[in-house]
Amino acid sequence: MTHPIDRRSCRCCHRELSLDQFRRRRRDSNVRLSDCRSCHNRAERVRRAAARQDRTHARLNAFFRRAQGASREQIQQIVGAMLEQFGGHQGLADAWVNYHSQARGLAKFRCYEVLFRLMQFLDQSSPKVCEMSDDELLHELQNFERRKQASH
Ligand SMILES: [Zn+2]
Repeated sequence: MTHPIDRRSCRCCHRELSLDQFRRRRRDSNVRLSDCRSCHNRAERVRRAAARQDRTHARLNAFFRRAQGASREQIQQIVGAMLEQFGGHQGLADAWVNYHSQARGLAKFRCYEVLFRLMQFLDQSSPKVCEMSDDELLHELQNFERRKQASH
């Protein structure tokens, strides 16, 4: 039989639940959290996802800062390092789009600035980049990846 004292209501979802549905603050403590396990876990998932996104943005930001005023050779190194960190083109593109959608003010401007620098870089390394087909462009990028791997 459950006594009312064994139950409490969650601060978050307001459901009345048994005490074992509320985590203890510490293993050796009798004090329990005011959010139930499922609300607590959901909040933790959101917090971890936000922290992951913050780390990704901080990494991109560091690259973007390095790319400002960088020489062609430095840009090549920076792009290589970015591709490595984000696990290839798709990963980098996803991180970039996510960054751009969240960025405000100067950070947003920096996205464009770096994009222009990269376009300049592609332009110099291959003057006909605008006339290239998708296959040729892919080939160029693969060449770039190979050169990057060879330089390790
Ligand atoms: Zn709850």
